[in-house]
Amino acid sequence: MTAVTLPVVDDTVLQALQRPSEYCGVMGVIGADEAAHLAYLGLYALQHRGQESAGIVAGDGEELVRHIGEGLVADVFTEDDLRRLSGKTALGHVRYATAGDGAQKLRDAQPLLVQCAAGPVAVAHNGNLTNAKALRQELEENGSIFQTSSDTEVICHLIARGEGQSLLKRVQDALVRVEGAYSLVISGDGRLYGVRDPLGIRPLSIGKVRGGYVLASETCAFDLIEAEYVRDVEPGEVVVLDGDGIRSERLPHAGDNRARCVFEHVYFARPDSVVFEAPVFATRQAMGARLAKEAPADGDVVVPVPDSGIHAAMGYAREAGLPFEMGLVRNHYVGRTFIEPEQRIRNFGVRLKLNPVVPLIKGKRVIVVDDSIVRGTTSRKIVEMVRAAGAKEVHLRISAPATSSPCFFGIDTPTRKELIASKMDTDAIAAHVGCDSLAYLSREGLMLALGKDGGTPPENGYCDACFSGEYPLDVDAMWTE
Ligand code: AMP
Repeated sequence: MTAVTLPVVDDTVLQALQRPSEYCGVMGVIGADEAAHLAYLGLYALQHRGQESAGIVAGDGEELVRHIGEGLVADVFTEDDLRRLSGKTALGHVRYATAGDGAQKLRDAQPLLVQCAAGPVAVAHNGNLTNAKALRQELEENGSIFQTSSDTEVICHLIARGEGQSLLKRVQDALVRVEGAYSLVISGDGRLYGVRDPLGIRPLSIGKVRGGYVLASETCAFDLIEAEYVRDVEPGEVVVLDGDGIRSERLPHAGDNRARCVFEHVYFARPDSVVFEAPVFATRQAMGARLAKEAPADGDVVVPVPDSGIHAAMGYAREAGLPFEMGLVRNHYVGRTFIEPEQRIRNFGVRLKLNPVVPLIKGKRVIVVDDSIVRGTTSRKIVEMVRAAGAKEVHLRISAPATSSPCFFGIDTPTRKELIASKMDTDAIAAHVGCDSLAYLSREGLMLALGKDGGTPPENGYCDACFSGEYPLDVDAMWTE
């Protein structure tokens, strides 16, 4: 038999479909039996935040043991690995690289574990530093040797060089020099530390579990291990967890400004999590309801793009008094490589992931709800697919403002020129994706949806730079174009 080389699917569609939707998730456990096992389960719940690598560091006091691997949590750890990770303290991390060299997945896997004058220290980081390059250069010029390409190692070096005897003091000193987004879980000197940057860009929550404490990027990790949510780590706060409970310290440079990431609520976090003290499913429903008020459409049915558009579409349908139907079904098991049949199939790329339920769509005016348009590739294919399934009209509604600027704080967005909304207005995008009408939620509407009762804007700030281009920190060093 002769082997036939089949053409590979159109690259841009694949990029959009395969773009890992995530960046990083962190976990920490202290004072509980089988801490590594609890961290492992927590990482399972945080898997949506990173699928490139996973790792756990565990131990008590003097000795910390690390196990890392490429891929999904379920594939990285065996029972034997978890047995070796003994002790009542554990740190866990799932990673999708937003900084560092993607080809070096294993080398950059976290938590990082270093030996320094303060003893063994393990660090797990969610976020992205905006001055990492300059700090790294300075450290290298002063003789530091780096083993990874990740931002997080810069923090490790600064902790190792930090002034003061205690690990807490070293961490506080180190972070004064660091700018950007960081939610950190650190273990060393028999304690567990949780830190959020002064603006509180990324989330981090504290829970109670089996006589001990747990830290996690999202509260959905608590549910799986039956931990009880206590509170969030505050922006600019360092919590010290040990046998004596929770001690609260501050970062010396922390002020009152806040810039919590709005995109956690729009897209990233799981809908069953409470993020920045607000339930994600509820804020998404409120975004959909606002959108229905701001941008009604003459439609017969509201159909979400699963999974990201589901809760917003529910809110939209309820507000508009229209039926909500799962007219698109998602295949959750799409792998990384696809080979297209020789005979080109229309929408092959997107069909791998989404398929229409024809009877729910055929002959109807369909309002399709999704959370965002990034490059425009997916939306275009979805509109084409819904039309091919017999829709009379397709009205696309996006439950957030147009994504027009890249994120430098830990979310994977392409460069500005690849963002369709940075070069086209709404009419041009509608023409490009081929829908009958297109509308986004306004910036004000988004803020109202984030308010506690869905009607009062939150008092403390959110970062919406991806929609507004207004960055809460100096990002001059981050532009690549
Ligand atoms: P695009 O084809 O680039 O317009 O992709 C739009 C789709 O990507 C939408 O369904 C979004 O839910 C999803 N999306 C938005 N932001 C991200 C992100 N940072 N990573 C992965 N997927 C995303």
